[in-house]
Amino acid sequence: IGRHTMDQEGIGFKYNGLYFSQDTFHIFAGLCAVDTPEHVEMMFAAMKEVGLETARMGVYKPRTNPYSFQGHGRKCLPWLFELAGKYGIRCIAMEVCKESHIDEIFEEWERAGRPTGIMLQIGTRNAQNFELLKAVGSQTEFPVLYKRGMGITIEESLNACEYIASEGNRNIIFCLRGVKTNLGDPHRNLVDFAHVPVIKSQTRLPVCVDPTHSVGRRYFGPDGIQEIFHAAAQGVIAGANMILVEFHPRPEKALCDGPQALTLEELPHFIEDMNIVREAY
Ligand code: PEP
Ligand code: MN
Repeated sequence: IGRHTMDQEGIGFKYNGLYFSQDTFHIFAGLCAVDTPEHVEMMFAAMKEVGLETARMGVYKPRTNPYSFQGHGRKCLPWLFELAGKYGIRCIAMEVCKESHIDEIFEEWERAGRPTGIMLQIGTRNAQNFELLKAVGSQTEFPVLYKRGMGITIEESLNACEYIASEGNRNIIFCLRGVKTNLGDPHRNLVDFAHVPVIKSQTRLPVCVDPTHSVGRRYFGPDGIQEIFHAAAQGVIAGANMILVEFHPRPEKALCDGPQALTLEELPHFIEDMNIVREAY
């Protein structure tokens, strides 16, 4: 399951000067949702400062509540791409919720002169949206970050990746982001990073962890342990090839997921800690 198509070709893939495999490591940091040019620029500038060229920026947001901010959509793409080019960002992960979002991103990216790379994200809420999976699978311009379904089995999530791969696009990264339980968990989701080696042994896919949506809050436990840092480190120890993590220059002003965003002051510490943990394991 989840390996038939993906086994046929070599391990890993290159994209825009980046290499993704079960041996490489990347941190995609950025805003949950793109809000203002000022905040995006502050984020990119902080990333440049620490030499980070891989970002996450939500443009289309699938929200639980219809009255919540749904993302700026297409209209922010021109200035988002311009800023990405200005700060030397090599790849931006952004979610698509329907097929036309792929076309909008492609058109604006071409119009902007392809100043950065794009990774299309399939969110957990679309983990079994088979038509969308086929759509991202049949475009081969952009790699795909597939987020496991929050309430389906690993096997079902791997079959979903097979939908992408069988359409032709094998540049897929599998992302663990926590799962829902009915146990009244203290965290937003039950952290599932012990599954990193499971995915790595069953497939050839690089595996990403998303500590932000797993833990779901910027919270200091006993001894001042920052839980998002801690969960991310657990993922790295388990062998994660990528971390997707949310920051915001002014979390109290964020239009989505402010309470779980790390601050820009924390960015260098986060990068340093993850690199230390990775080297130690
Ligand atoms: C996100 O990464 O922006 C997101 C909405 O995550 P998920 O689909 O895992 O909830
Ligand atoms: Mn978020």
